Amino acid sequence: MNFKTIIEPFRIKSVESIHMSTEAERIQYLEAAHYNPFLLNSNQVIIDFLTDSGTSAMSNEQWAAMMRGDESYAGAQSWERFYNAVFDLTSYPYILPTHQGRAAERILYGHLGGKGKVFISNTHFDTTRANIEFSGAVAFDIPIEESKNHENYYPFKGNLDCEKLEKLITEHKAENIGAVILTVTNNSGGGQPVSMQNAKDVAEVCKRHNVLFIIDCCRIAENSYFIKHREAGFEDKTYKEIVQQMFGLADGCVMSAKKDALVNMGGFLALKDEKLAEACTNLLIITEGFTTYGGLSGRDMEAIAVGLVEILDKDYLYYRIKSTEYLGEKIREKGVPVMYPIGGHAVYIDSAKLYDHIPLDEYPGQALVCELYRVGGIRCVEVGSVMFGKYDEQGKLIPAAMELVRLAIPRRVYTQSHVDYVVEVFDEILKNKSETRGYKITKEPKLLRHFTAHFEKI
Ligand SMILES: *Cc1c(COP(=O)(O)O)cnc(C)c1O
Repeated sequence: MNFKTIIEPFRIKSVESIHMSTEAERIQYLEAAHYNPFLLNSNQVIIDFLTDSGTSAMSNEQWAAMMRGDESYAGAQSWERFYNAVFDLTSYPYILPTHQGRAAERILYGHLGGKGKVFISNTHFDTTRANIEFSGAVAFDIPIEESKNHENYYPFKGNLDCEKLEKLITEHKAENIGAVILTVTNNSGGGQPVSMQNAKDVAEVCKRHNVLFIIDCCRIAENSYFIKHREAGFEDKTYKEIVQQMFGLADGCVMSAKKDALVNMGGFLALKDEKLAEACTNLLIITEGFTTYGGLSGRDMEAIAVGLVEILDKDYLYYRIKSTEYLGEKIREKGVPVMYPIGGHAVYIDSAKLYDHIPLDEYPGQALVCELYRVGGIRCVEVGSVMFGKYDEQGKLIPAAMELVRLAIPRRVYTQSHVDYVVEVFDEILKNKSETRGYKITKEPKLLRHFTAHFEKI
């Protein structure tokens, strides 16, 4: 039988209650938070879709493994289990545990970067770009053209444009390329997947020019689901085989374990090359910790080791991707403009299209974020001109390329009825559409203003 209802392939042993606020309470909370959901307390939120990073629910097996945590300074048993789990997937012999993804990025890109160096990616995630630029190097994003169309179906909008890659390498000379970084799935590009063929093509170009090829593998398990179901020749492969094959194409990887390792904190850097690993290990010891624990405690390494196995479970991945797709498809049917097809970890809404009566300098994305909170207690993030907008010399807003709102789905945290509730909230959002007004910024810091800015309703 093929039942339509998506059921969670787990049952619940421990629960965390949600305070069911009223709309009147939320109106007060929102005003007190200056209409910036980052300034809300989590207990004022019913459904928290702010991020999928570090928000996963751990399994009973992960909690049990944590009790086995060996906190020895050097050569802990937990390190061995962590090493084996990462090696089993990557086959990279040099594995450096870090406290989260950006620490691995700082070590690797800090070492490879510097003035005159160039990095090339399908899309650099913001911490990746920040670490590269902080070193003095420059970062180029070259997603394929198809990624710019947000309405048509295309199976692998996360792919990197290999023609442009070839050109950039020739233009900047191979010896100046710090690394080519393939982000799977492409987080900043809407969580869109990358095909195995694209990874092979990137690997081929990198090999031919003798350029380092790194995978930013935060969501490589989710990516493997799309390869198995969308790319010819992978129907009969297991998710693990697909992940192993993709790692096999690259020279190393950077991972934020807060995504597809199902833990709340952690990361690693893994490399093939001994010399490069040696240089990075020196930086690891100076800034994170000794080689066999880096930025992690023994129990953290245990939880990651178990998470890396659980994430590739076929029933889990089916539920994960189908549930995200269900949310996106349902609100799309109602007429909410979403980035299409739906990616792996989040649904992105085009708020400028939804609220086409709100001018861009009145932040339609912020309006939607506030509406979702007022109506349903749903917290999510604006990825538009509040986050990326700049001002010209007259102080006029130079808007971002798009006014997106991201609903990021934590792993194994919400049930299908939570998702149905969110779908229902959108009926109300659409009903109030024409009355919804924009916002103006009343206070903002110089950098990363979306975290702390204050707003006022227009
Ligand atoms: C989250 C993320 C990072 C950074 O990892 P942190 O654990 O948040 O430091 C890097 N790259 C991608 C694609 C990410 O999603």
